[in-house]
Amino acid sequence: AAGDVVVELKQLAKEYGGVHAVRGVDLTVRSGEVVGLIGPNGAGKTTLVNMVSGLIPPSSGTATVLGVPVGRTPVHRIAAAGVTRTFQHSKLFNRLTALENVLIGAHVVARPTFLRRLIWLPSARRDERIALAHAARCLDRVGLLEKANTPAKGLSYGDQRRLEIARALAADPSLLILDEPAAGMNHVEAEGLSALIRDLSADGLTIIFIEHNVGMVLDTCDHIIVLNFGEVLADGTPSEIAADERVIEAYLGAA
Ligand code: ATP
Repeated sequence: AAGDVVVELKQLAKEYGGVHAVRGVDLTVRSGEVVGLIGPNGAGKTTLVNMVSGLIPPSSGTATVLGVPVGRTPVHRIAAAGVTRTFQHSKLFNRLTALENVLIGAHVVARPTFLRRLIWLPSARRDERIALAHAARCLDRVGLLEKANTPAKGLSYGDQRRLEIARALAADPSLLILDEPAAGMNHVEAEGLSALIRDLSADGLTIIFIEHNVGMVLDTCDHIIVLNFGEVLADGTPSEIAADERVIEAYLGAA
């Protein structure tokens, strides 16, 4: 399902006082692709997606994401262009329900209840209905609609990770970046996540995800990038990557 260019990186690099976290990365991601980013600890995966999502500026090189030059654009503008990411460590509000957590991710947030009690706001009620319906659709998309009213802390670990994806979907992204979404999941949960990623891609979403489980990356992605010491060690289809001697060597070396 390769279409328009969504991400174009040219000689992208990031240096932290002598540490070359990312060096000279060239990469093209096309619309509808599921791209896996793998590599040993410290390979530069998080630094790379931080640059793609505009959280940190590159030291050199260029990155164009959804037509926007990142590095010269504030992060909220990049988000508004359609880039959403999740983080390695859960950022859910534990005591809020699943639905409330998703509402927080939406552009339209329901007005606080006290405000509705104080004054008659027909438009606020309408906005709230729209926001609730949208949040419910996002929960449904990840299979959590039945748990809409469960506090986040009452969900299983795998469901919490899916809830983070639902919240990311609430922003209606074109490019979704997932930072180790399967970390800590059991085998069944990881397989479910893999199926969800494929479904989202079938809907036209472009997905970049960081993952340590090579088997899952091979099963889920259209295109895999292997980073090692900040450089692209290999870039290809799952079958090309699985057969790549350098990849096997880097992984056995790191294991
Ligand atoms: P992991 O799988 O452990 O998350 P990673 O592939 O995401 O690793 P990065 O977190 O991008 O790797 O780190 C790449 C390199 O850059 C590492 O050597 C790291 O110590 C260094 N680094 C990352 N962020 C900073 C920072 N803010 N300041 C200094 N060095 C940093």
